Amino acid sequence: MQTAEQTRQQTGSETVGHLINGEVVISGGPTQPVYNPATGQVIRQVEMADQATVEQAIAAAEAAFPAWRATTPAKRARIMFRFKQLLEERADEICRLLTEEHGKVFADSMGELQRGIENVEFACYAPETLKGEHSRDVGPGVDSWSEFQPLGVVAGITPFNFPVMVPLWMYPAALVAGNTFVLKPSEKDPTSALFVPQLLEEAGLPPGVLNVVHGGKEAVDTLLHDSRVQAVSFVGSTPIAEYIYATGTANGKRVQALGGAKNHAIVMPDADIDNAVSALMGAAYGSCGERCMAIPVVVAVGDETGDAVVEKLTAELANMKVGNGLEEGHDMGPLVTRDHYEKVRGYVDLGVEEGAELAVDGRDIEVPGHPEGFYLGGCLFDKVQPGMKIYQDEIFGPVLCVVRVETLQQAMDLIDAHEYGNGTCIFTRDGEAARYFTDNIKVGMVGVNVPLPVPVAYHSFGGWKRSLFGDLSAYGPDAMRFYTRRKTITQRWPSAGVREGIKYTFPSNH
Ligand code: NAD
Repeated sequence: MQTAEQTRQQTGSETVGHLINGEVVISGGPTQPVYNPATGQVIRQVEMADQATVEQAIAAAEAAFPAWRATTPAKRARIMFRFKQLLEERADEICRLLTEEHGKVFADSMGELQRGIENVEFACYAPETLKGEHSRDVGPGVDSWSEFQPLGVVAGITPFNFPVMVPLWMYPAALVAGNTFVLKPSEKDPTSALFVPQLLEEAGLPPGVLNVVHGGKEAVDTLLHDSRVQAVSFVGSTPIAEYIYATGTANGKRVQALGGAKNHAIVMPDADIDNAVSALMGAAYGSCGERCMAIPVVVAVGDETGDAVVEKLTAELANMKVGNGLEEGHDMGPLVTRDHYEKVRGYVDLGVEEGAELAVDGRDIEVPGHPEGFYLGGCLFDKVQPGMKIYQDEIFGPVLCVVRVETLQQAMDLIDAHEYGNGTCIFTRDGEAARYFTDNIKVGMVGVNVPLPVPVAYHSFGGWKRSLFGDLSAYGPDAMRFYTRRKTITQRWPSAGVREGIKYTFPSNH
């Protein structure tokens, strides 16, 4: 296999290229810098694909489709088995590339990869999940069945925060269903997203079945407008998700577009506060808050609960170790880019102006040896009001807001009134309260004493409200429906020599 690194050495280029028809190609177009956020240094460039380059990738996927569609599901699944093995063998290499460009600590990258591998394991069930439905004798001597056929060329557009896992939500399922694929990963951390598909080719995937193009709006717009692309899966922020959904569906494509989030955790007065605080630390500050299932809001029911939660979080934050994710012993790394750092820091300034109490201020953190890194320490706001921008907006950084209410119903009304509905959680010992919460809350993924209720790979992942545009969630059973088209066949073999009369009435089983 040719790695991106080898390609760079051969071409003398520090540029991350595209994977088209089994080759890593650099077409000499404009590039954009890729940073190591831990040091603040530019470590390579990524080529931004123009329309012609994306069209080459679509053409490669279209050419590969007939033979791949004709490959049996069991053979497609066997390639996924080998892929899973390679992902495990090369885990160290993948996670180093991931941490180097994203910034999350190495152990967190390993967690991301493991969750991605679980989606490959699900793809290995393809012969089972594609089995279809059969009914014998739907009429006299008539049998009927539904089968699930691939769509053709499908595209995936993915965010920076899970450059390995989110693409693995998409292409393993799409490919085992018989489709071919064009992936457009985030241009902020492109190298691991290019490296992993090369392992799939090493596992036996034919050239052209999976292609990767890097780029921005021009690349995405090409995928959205090209009539050869049948379906688009998107994961990213809500404004772009809405645009992808509107444009893709207007062009006749099937689209699922997962957007942003502002996930609330309710802490009830009867909760095990110490365990709730441990869970909240990881959920709020893990991966520097750059997770769509992160918890950036705690809703404390009752003032005593609020006081205890703020006091214990403050104590834990004093012990949280921030630094380069490739070095041992850190809990949290830097934010992904300088722009994002400025944006998140700006929200902390704004929260102070809006009148929230900044219980812990992480703005002046210094990480020895890395003065240029994009580090922000953990920040904690108390007494946040629902009218404040720091409550309403998705900040996507290590900033946790505590809102205080009097009752569970008030906490639930807050969550239901928010524009996003991705994830939520309740910390309680009261089964009745938990059941009322899970039954009634208007959110797609709900935890009870589980702060990050990210569904396992054999369920599906999707939020409600403005966190998901489209009808089907990502991965798991919904992915097998999203990446296939149902066809229903009704069949009868009349007995030889028996002449049937003409019937002008609608066929029925009467
Ligand atoms: P983003 O929306 O900026 O980018 C996502 C993708 O869209 C990237 O590939 C990017 O190149 C492309 N893109 C950006 N601007 C575009 C434009 N104007 N036109 C066309 N394409 C464009 O998101 P991000 O900053 O990379 O990721 C963070 C966001 O993703 C957060 O909002 C987070 O909540 C969300 N997210 C959601 C989920 C989920 O499952 N709901 C999962 C992960 C991340």
